[in-house]
Amino acid sequence: MKICSICHRISGTGDDHLDCVQKRRVELEDEDLKNKIPEKIDLGKNSNDLGVEVRAILEHLSKEKDRQS
Ligand SMILES: [Zn+2]
Repeated sequence: MKICSICHRISGTGDDHLDCVQKRRVELEDEDLKNKIPEKIDLGKNSNDLGVEVRAILEHLSKEKDRQS
């Protein structure tokens, strides 16, 4: 019997739960994006080309927040 390493409950598949793995991945990507944003905004001061990319990241984060609440 396998214990899911993410939620620590028993998994019937012999591996971590797929939704736990998926959730963990989304969380890690969010953390990654949050860490990158200040850097990108700072760069944005020097280049207008980065504006669209930063906006897309901010939109992505606000969508994630909506989904969690
Ligand atoms: Zn799990």
